[in-house]
Order: sequence, then structure tokens, then C-alpha cells
Amino acid sequence: MAGSPFGAPGRWLRGNLHGHTTASDGRLSPEEYVAAYRARGYDFVAATDHWRLTDLRPFRGQGFAVVPGAEVDGRAPAPFGHHVVALGIGALPPRSPDAGLQATVDAVRALGGIAVVAHPYETGLTSAHLLEADGYIGLEVWNTLSVVGWGKGLAAVQWDELLQAGRRPAGLATDDTHQRDGRLDDLGFGWVMVRADAAEPDAILAALAAGRFYASTGPEIHDFRVEPGPDGARHARVACSPCRFVHFLCDRGLGRTVAAGPESDLQAASQTLHPAATYVRVQCEDHRGRTAWGPAVALGPGTP
Ligand SMILES: [Zn+2]
Ligand SMILES: [Zn+2]
Repeated sequence: MAGSPFGAPGRWLRGNLHGHTTASDGRLSPEEYVAAYRARGYDFVAATDHWRLTDLRPFRGQGFAVVPGAEVDGRAPAPFGHHVVALGIGALPPRSPDAGLQATVDAVRALGGIAVVAHPYETGLTSAHLLEADGYIGLEVWNTLSVVGWGKGLAAVQWDELLQAGRRPAGLATDDTHQRDGRLDDLGFGWVMVRADAAEPDAILAALAAGRFYASTGPEIHDFRVEPGPDGARHARVACSPCRFVHFLCDRGLGRTVAAGPESDLQAASQTLHPAATYVRVQCEDHRGRTAWGPAVALGPGTP
């Protein structure tokens, strides 16, 4: 079970972990790619060109980190295969076109890397496919390109089905920017907030591996925790930037939504959890529909 970023030492760093440059099918050069994220106030970025390790180190700077990565893929399951974002690798895994998701994840891990399942909804990966593999730290619950390109960038259902099955992957938001036709409508809209000691690749990768991050397209989550109450029940509470909805999501329909009125805001919410719930995660949505996805917390039966 991954740790929580809230209350952990360090500071919040904002980063994009999936994007393409002219080294594969993006339109921005590696230098322009880094500059675009630095201009938007990010603290780190990875370039994940298809089967290419793009060296961004010449463009890193004081307080701005670059994380090595690549996007790799395989043709199974048919017909669309899978894509995996591989982070923290110093070499590419061997290319096996017929590889399945598990083989790809294993190959990334054999290099000491972190594997994230990219855009499962767009690729046609169901939760049944995702359950057949393990060892990946999470999946993209939000992929900006898949949203603005073809409307299939949200994978909250797949994520909840994995959680309901007892798995504990994290949800990540990434851009997967390609700057199609030179447009930047897929750059700067989905990111992770990582709790790390320093804007250094090793610290960021360690925090990702430990689950000390959350995902967002806008709102901030300041705190999220589960605590025992005086009644013996478990309570989840969250503090966030002004939002319209706070969803506490649990197995099936066991969670609850706390809603502000159309003209008012929520900056905190709490919920008594159903005794049968095995996990809880929080989703904070602002008045513009932008969302933050907190980490999932495992709930042992009857214990906080
Ligand atoms: Zn992809
Ligand atoms: Zn991609």
C-alpha cells in the first residue's frame, strides 16, 4: 500500500510525466518542450517519446528537474495493444512487438524503472485487461490529448474497478502532449503534484514509487486522511482549494458526494465511511469542472 503525500516531509512539485517532442511525433523541440512547461510554472517534466530516450538534461535549470522516460508499447491484447509510460530508465527495454502488458511492465521494472499504464480508455484496455498484469504504479486517470483529441481521456471507471477488486494502483494526470499542427491545446492541462524533498529526478521518482502524489487539472488538495471517530466509525476528511463537489469514492455506491451550492464553495469536507468499504479516494471538482484526484486509501475491515 502506497504512502500518503499529506503530512509527508518535503514540498509540492508540479510536473508532467508524459509528452512528446520532435524526437518522436511531437512538434516542439526538446528545448521548446522544456521551455513551455517552465513558462507555465512547472517544477519538473519528463519527455516520453515513442521508443526514444530524449535527453532533456541540457535544458534543466535551477529548481527545475527533468525525469528520464520513454513511451513503450506492445500489440497485446488485440486489437489495440497497450502503451506504457516508462520513467526513470537509463536504457530502452528490448522491443517485442507482440508483448503483452505484463511483459512490458516487467521489462521496464527490470531496468529499474517505473511503469504507468497510459490512456487505457483510448487504447481499449478494460479493467479486466488491467487486472491481468501487476507491477505498474498506476494508470492515467486523465490524459489531456485523449480528452481534447477524441474524448476518451478519463479512466476513473477502470481505476475504481481495480480498486474494488482489491488492487491499489495510483491515478495520474498527464498531458501526453503532441502539439498537433503546432497547437498547444494539449499542453499544461493535467499534471501530478508530487511531495518530494527536492526538485531532483531521484527524489521525484522515489516519491512516485511511494505513492506520494496526487493528480489534478486545476484544484489543489491540501490534506486528505482517514481517521477513527469517537463512534468507532472511520471518517475521511479533505481540505482543498475552492470546489463545487467533493466526491468520496468507495466500492460500488458506498461513497458519498458533498456538494456546495451553485454560488458557493467547499474548502473542506468530511464523510463517515460505510463499514463495508474497502477503499476510499477523493475527487475534488471546481465550478469549471476541473478536478483533483487524491490517492486511494486502503481500509482494512473495521480498522482505521
Ligand atoms: Zn500512447
Ligand atoms: Zn504518448
